[in-house]
Amino acid sequence: MKVPFLSFAETNKEIRDEVIVTFTDFFDKGWYILGDSVKKFERDYAEFNRVAHCVGTSNGLDALHLALVSAGIGEGDEVLVPSNTFIATLLAVSYVGAKPVLVEPDHRFYTIDVSKLEQAVTSRTRAIIPVHLYGQACDMDEVMVFAKKHNLVVIEDNAQAQGAKWAGRLTGAWGNINATSFYPGKNLGALGDGGAITTDDTALADSVSRLRNYGSEKKYVHEVVGYNMRLDECQAAFLSIKLRRLNEWTSQRVNIAAMYNDTLRDTGDIVLPQVHSKATHVYHLYVIQTNKRDELQRHLGERGIGTLIHYPIPPHLQKAYAHLPYRRGDFPIAERLADSCLSLPLWPGMTQSAVEFIGDTIKQFYR
Ligand SMILES: *Cc1c(COP(=O)(O)O)cnc(C)c1O
Repeated sequence: MKVPFLSFAETNKEIRDEVIVTFTDFFDKGWYILGDSVKKFERDYAEFNRVAHCVGTSNGLDALHLALVSAGIGEGDEVLVPSNTFIATLLAVSYVGAKPVLVEPDHRFYTIDVSKLEQAVTSRTRAIIPVHLYGQACDMDEVMVFAKKHNLVVIEDNAQAQGAKWAGRLTGAWGNINATSFYPGKNLGALGDGGAITTDDTALADSVSRLRNYGSEKKYVHEVVGYNMRLDECQAAFLSIKLRRLNEWTSQRVNIAAMYNDTLRDTGDIVLPQVHSKATHVYHLYVIQTNKRDELQRHLGERGIGTLIHYPIPPHLQKAYAHLPYRRGDFPIAERLADSCLSLPLWPGMTQSAVEFIGDTIKQFYR
């Protein structure tokens, strides 16, 4: 049996006919940029996320970037971000001339450790970007209290957690303005690049809407120096089709994670994902930890099982961020995760027998 890390085969099968009809309509209509499909998807996603506004963007990184610009974050400002996130969270901060200030994750949940926020604040701190890493919601109660106390803008990075909840409220609905990604492998993925911001703040939504389209609301009238960071019309149409199935696909992800938990409990030195009692986890990734990570990855690879590492080098050890005042040893939890984490295959439509095969292959490794 071969199990790839990620497969679109099953989800694509479900949407294939609808996608082809939708593409034909789109093709024949001849309106290819910012048309009815983008408007419709923005309404659909705002409704899904229970926020007043969604504005589509070219991708998740651009959504973060436009959120920061719209919130007025810029040169000389400091932005708190987790030390174990995907690099895009930091890149967006860099684009606006601000400085990413790293905060360690909680060692159990891998999301930002709210007890370490206070010590990272300076007189320049202006914003915080909590990342709902791997699909688990951050402690948004504490993040919001902390942000209010220090008068910070909250920008959730919801790229990995569409549909997750903290204390019953959806991620992407807590912050002042929040960003998500529709990169194909994300829980809600386009057939290409895409992203969006979500917010209840009309002024912030209007700002992103202008900025993504050359700083213009009216054709050839430019109020600000904008960008070309629009969500593609065709991708928006595909996203509306997939969004209708997202809750079903999420419950499949949760079931697969539960099967993994059952079969991998008490196996070798494996640390299973833990979910906070107030959080839900939508399992964008199923990430285990083991001291024998590289050997286990090789063992699985040789037996046809694809795995990945999210992420092998933490941001503070990347060459791109050598200018930050950090060294190896400064973020031991992020560094340890990078050395010991392994993401197992997980996608909607993956079968129980595939999970069992992976479970057996892992147990064989530890015997
Ligand atoms: C994927 C991702 C992004 C960037 O999204 P793109 O659409 O790939 O630009 C940002 N943050 C996190 C946590 C991500 O996983």
